[in-house]
Amino acid sequence: MATTSPLANGAAQQPQAGVILDALIIGAGFAGMYQLHCLRDRLGLAAQVLEAAAGVGGTWYWNRYPGARCDSESHAYRFSFSEELARAWQWSERYPGQPEVLRYLNFVADRLDLKRDIRFNTRVESACWDEAAKLWQVSTASGERHRARFLITAVGCLSSANIPDIPGLESFEGRWVHTGQWPHEGVDFRGLRVGQVGTGSTGIQCAPVIAETAAHLTVFQRTANYSVPARNAPLTDEFKRYARDNVAEISRTMRATRNGHPFFDADRSALATPPEERQALYDAAWAKGGLQFRATFGDIISNLEANKTAADFIRAKIRGIVRDPVTAAKLADIDHPYAAKRPPIDSGYFETFNRDNVALVDLRAEPIERITPRGIRTSRKEYALDAIVFATGFDGLTGSLLAMDIRGRGDTPLGDVWRDGPRNYLGLQVTGFPNLFMITGPGSPSVLCNMPVPIEQHVEWITGCIARMRDTGMRQVEARAEAMDAWVAKVNAAAAATLLPMAAHSWYMGANIPGKPRVFLPYAGGMARYREICDQVAANHYEGFTLSD
Ligand code: NAP
Repeated sequence: MATTSPLANGAAQQPQAGVILDALIIGAGFAGMYQLHCLRDRLGLAAQVLEAAAGVGGTWYWNRYPGARCDSESHAYRFSFSEELARAWQWSERYPGQPEVLRYLNFVADRLDLKRDIRFNTRVESACWDEAAKLWQVSTASGERHRARFLITAVGCLSSANIPDIPGLESFEGRWVHTGQWPHEGVDFRGLRVGQVGTGSTGIQCAPVIAETAAHLTVFQRTANYSVPARNAPLTDEFKRYARDNVAEISRTMRATRNGHPFFDADRSALATPPEERQALYDAAWAKGGLQFRATFGDIISNLEANKTAADFIRAKIRGIVRDPVTAAKLADIDHPYAAKRPPIDSGYFETFNRDNVALVDLRAEPIERITPRGIRTSRKEYALDAIVFATGFDGLTGSLLAMDIRGRGDTPLGDVWRDGPRNYLGLQVTGFPNLFMITGPGSPSVLCNMPVPIEQHVEWITGCIARMRDTGMRQVEARAEAMDAWVAKVNAAAAATLLPMAAHSWYMGANIPGKPRVFLPYAGGMARYREICDQVAANHYEGFTLSD
């Protein structure tokens, strides 16, 4: 394959006119970086990354809001493909903050010498399959044209900011920002009355930090949310030693678990456990903190009654922490099962409402009517604000893909094929879009996991498939229609076996974006199971795909 390419391994940074690359990769976060490394350095192919930002990092490049921190524990938030690489990096805290994750990704990019094959400040606008040439034609916002045999999207799951369409925003005389597009120079809230809209994982992280500097913070809550303390702290020398000395073992565990985290869900049932013992286990999990709380019992995510024991425990904690009973009641008035929406973890979120300079507005009782020049007006009153923070999330999983005009065979737009919701095979390929692979798109376990784990699996699987094609002289790979239909059914069945679809307003369902089809987007069958399925498909000569020359 590379023999027909004018680019030798990593030979050029600038595209030359007429050059045909083996692969173009869109995005330079965890996924794009590793995909470049695999194709360029392992297969010796001519590959380049196109990246809209000025640096590597993806999510961690853009999400610089106060308090931005990873919810996965640092010793598991890393690449696993190289033990040497994993040992060469030392995290400082239990959960890495955004600046540290960005430093890590730059460290990896430099160590693997990736940046010379990444074109920064290059936003892809469209990609079109050229049937005659069997190539992807890619155009960028700056008018560049590129051609490549394979196109791989590594655009992240949560990179298309959702700025709600609230009337009057343009009239606001203060400053407004979205957490996912945070200014690099930071925002100084000192002396300001700040309004924060949104109480998802992001809002729960940033409210305590904003409250520390702002004159006043008003949190506008539409849906109350569970949260468990993160219990972040600097790592002890002993733990650092453990993480360094057990790299391989930790990676093995991450690969074997349902969510790619370095711990297994407990085997026991919440319902079968006597109430006092159950309470003690929840108490211990609360004291330990983090996403592991969800793993306290094996049936929390599948049995509503079991789930209620966890939900009630957290509601009681909220009432115990928040001193004002009216505020506590609003915060604890949660309408969905625990973890049916992505469960946040926090550093002092509920405690923040005990501060004199923080207030909660319940938008269920008084919906926002409009934004005025002076602030936010609800059905009850106008809240005077100097700044508004939108912690309102993203057009998850499909937003960034559909923002590009991707067209497959017969000039068919991806948006047409996905009009009623995304459809693909293994989350990786869409029928009618040959040689286009998606990393952690819809239909992948993606956002239900510790992200580096599905990313590495997808990248390695795609690399294996491309290597097989090279070795057998094939130029084209495409998911078969019946395989795609069967996978869509599997994704739906996997979701239905959990309580996840019960959070009808969750972004997992696409429900946060007006007009977006309501389907459960990620594959909820578990990362370990997904890996087995993908391995089986590859072992069965890429069953469900057509490979042709
Ligand atoms: P999110 O979970 O979608 O939460 C958005 C919040 O904004 C929700 O409270 C939502 O209310 C509210 N909202 C949206 N539109 C609104 C409107 N028009 N009016 C009032 N409220 C509105 O977004 P996120 O918090 O940014 O998190 C997204 C995902 O990013 C997470 O689920 C997680 O996967 C990832 N994340 C990870 C980390 C981490 O690892 N550290 C941190 C942050 C985020 P409703 O619930 O009523 O829709």
